[in-house]
Amino acid sequence: MVEAVRTVVVRSEQLPRRTFRIFVELEGMYRNVVEQLVLYAVNNGVTKFTRLKAERYREVRSLYPQLPSHYAYTACQDAAERAHSFLRLRRMGRARKAYPEVRGVSIWLDDHLWRVEGLTSISMATHRGRVRVSIELNKHFLRYVNRGWRLATEAKVKLDRRERRLILYLTFKKEVSEYRPKGYITVDVNENAEAVLIDGVVYLLETDLSRITLGYYYRKKRVQERYDRVYGPGSRPERKIFKSLRGNERALKREIRQKLAALIVREAARRQAAIVLERLGKEPAKGMIERIKDPQLRHRVYQAAFKGMQRAIEEKAREYGVPVIYVDPRNTSRVCPIHGAEIVYGKDRHGTCSRGGETWHRDVVACYNLLLRALGGDGGNAPSRVRAFVAVDGGPVPLGPTAAHEPIRISRSLWARWRSLGAINKHEQIRINT
Ligand SMILES: [Zn+2]
Repeated sequence: MVEAVRTVVVRSEQLPRRTFRIFVELEGMYRNVVEQLVLYAVNNGVTKFTRLKAERYREVRSLYPQLPSHYAYTACQDAAERAHSFLRLRRMGRARKAYPEVRGVSIWLDDHLWRVEGLTSISMATHRGRVRVSIELNKHFLRYVNRGWRLATEAKVKLDRRERRLILYLTFKKEVSEYRPKGYITVDVNENAEAVLIDGVVYLLETDLSRITLGYYYRKKRVQERYDRVYGPGSRPERKIFKSLRGNERALKREIRQKLAALIVREAARRQAAIVLERLGKEPAKGMIERIKDPQLRHRVYQAAFKGMQRAIEEKAREYGVPVIYVDPRNTSRVCPIHGAEIVYGKDRHGTCSRGGETWHRDVVACYNLLLRALGGDGGNAPSRVRAFVAVDGGPVPLGPTAAHEPIRISRSLWARWRSLGAINKHEQIRINT
């Protein structure tokens, strides 16, 4: 059994000023607690919730005795997580400040601090007792309720001061059983495309994720230069533009990743196949993005295009019960999947097998080698299994005519409209080397 988890955002109705003020006070206390806890945690190298709670619970309770006691728990969890990610960034030399800033606060809730009352309202424990709030039902929320997802007890709340509403981040969970795979779909994640091997065909689905990251980076740089000249560095209008650019960038990438993940996972589920992914490292050491000199930028490209893409696939796979297998990614594009000999690459991601002399596209090689590794891990001897999944056409090369070594390239504007890869027709196929 695996657990699929989704966050759904719902908003409360507009609250009377007096009620809203209670939440503003609550947020203020919560923020203060978290700030102090984070400071303590960072100074003492505490990253575990249990330790932070053991060492600071009394302090926190005495600071605001009127605050329901479970806020001390959730604030410790919140702070431990903030301290953890800050200390990690600092270890990697990417922390920009000496202490993490507690800017955006969402109040963490547990089962003691809130509950659902009927379908349209919740009640929250506050320093002024329980407060009941009506929520606005939305399509997204109802979809999860109706499809057998279970509402989890943990939730987060943010305040929308302009509209005097609460924004609730609810968590839905669902247990799904994974099937036993009857085959494999291998996915080679690249910075601007995803190579997917399905039924002996490699599709190269373009994502442009790295291009988008770089594009926004340069746009922000231009904005910065212009605004710094006019208003001085870090001005308000500049920050405002940054914020909206960041929001747009995030939303666009998220949409791309989720759509593509859904497409791949649906294909896997239909075939009862497992998805094979590369086991990624912690650091953006990938050779393919080494050309990006700025370490922060490199990290962002890696996070969006590699980590983020994998995470989207994992998340979607859990929902459908699709098993995900990880294999060692080392040298997956260096060795010919048929001959086991080195492939010598020229330009355009094309190479020639040093034994068979056949040409290969780098992503096709990677996909087949990932498959071989998955099969090898299945108990078989990998190289001898090559014929098990490749149609032999009598030619000197088991993979057949050279065309089979080319991926079918599909642009984002095309696949983004599909629900399945079956939608491909001949006119839409664009061969790379034509
Ligand atoms: Zn070869």
